[in-house]
Amino acid sequence: MDNSNIRKLFPILGQTINGYPLAYLDSAASAQKPIQVIETLKYYYEQDNANVHRGVHTLGSRATEAYEGARAKVARFIHAEWGEEIIFTRGTTSSINLVASSYARAVCKEGDEIVVSAMEHHSNLLPWQQAAKATGAVLKYIPLQTDGTFSIEEAENMITNRTKIVSISHISNVLGVANPVKQIAAIAHNRGAVIMVDGAQSIPHIKVDVQELDCDFYAFSGHKMCGPTGIGVLYGKKAYLEQMEPIEFGGEMIADVGLYDASWKELPWKFEGGTPIIAGAIGLGAAIDFLEQIGLDVIEAHDKQLTSYAVEQMKQIEHLTMYGPEEGRFGLVTFNLGKIHPHDLATVLDTYGVAIRAGHHCCQPLMRHFGASATVRASFYLYNTEADVEQFLFALNKTKEYFK
Ligand code: PLP
Repeated sequence: MDNSNIRKLFPILGQTINGYPLAYLDSAASAQKPIQVIETLKYYYEQDNANVHRGVHTLGSRATEAYEGARAKVARFIHAEWGEEIIFTRGTTSSINLVASSYARAVCKEGDEIVVSAMEHHSNLLPWQQAAKATGAVLKYIPLQTDGTFSIEEAENMITNRTKIVSISHISNVLGVANPVKQIAAIAHNRGAVIMVDGAQSIPHIKVDVQELDCDFYAFSGHKMCGPTGIGVLYGKKAYLEQMEPIEFGGEMIADVGLYDASWKELPWKFEGGTPIIAGAIGLGAAIDFLEQIGLDVIEAHDKQLTSYAVEQMKQIEHLTMYGPEEGRFGLVTFNLGKIHPHDLATVLDTYGVAIRAGHHCCQPLMRHFGASATVRASFYLYNTEADVEQFLFALNKTKEYFK
């Protein structure tokens, strides 16, 4: 793949920051948007904007067609069996909260178990903490190894016949490596539990097939895969979604309303109360078209290769500590450089036009596991080139000199 040509499709990357070309290495937090997505949003607002599902006028029909078309696209993209298994949400956080607030509260009782790991993003922890508190279920953690990963044997030990839900990230936003979610799904199902997968960091980089993984719920965000902010997806197997109650009530999601009670629409609309995120969903559809045009296999290979290239060079830098396993990073590397505070490092890198992330990355339990209060993360995506990596390494070395 010719990345310098791909880079040109992202208008924001054409700018300079502090006199340097922008080396955007923060896509794990939020990815940039190609012109195709920006133009789709512009076209929608200029030509088709209207509310969906109720207008009989032309714009209403066009907006509805585009919105529902985006749903069909997402279903095809992740190989869901049914279009109604795709619920549009605000993002991964909302998707996980929906399952934790609806499914978990209905299914879990005192003494049941919800199993997670300490590598999870806060968005895949706090909803389960709350669900456990509300139901009396026990929140159990699969123990982590020194490098922050867990073994399938430990996962197997933790998941018991009392386990109702297992929730695990597909790719960690700190370690950058994939968890064996297909194997964990099989173990969970064996013990009568369901599995929810946090796909925020996997969907941008790899081809996901929810039927092949046999996961019951899968959550992801549009903004990390070149789509707009404010849109995300909850995939759920129809059998589970059908039995779940909505957690938001109001317009759009009803079948019939009386003075004291109401009934809901069928799937997927019963979970989409109020005016939905119409432009966001349509923009997400455009992002899917864009990623598919390039090819997820091509994107995966590029992101892995660029990450390995950066990691190999970073090994040459004295006092640089990388976190996570040596191999298998899908597009990010987390590290610290000597005693330089991560925020100082990120601030100095910005003076060289390099955008990276510093902090706990919404993974405080994992940071504690590493004995670090904060770390720095560089993340790579389809528009990044070796020149970005060179600029990053140059800036790292300059920062080291600066703090000497
Ligand atoms: N899970 C993981 C692994 C993430 O990396 C993120 C975002 O950084 C989230 C969940 C939350 O995503 P969002 O903020 O888009 O809801």
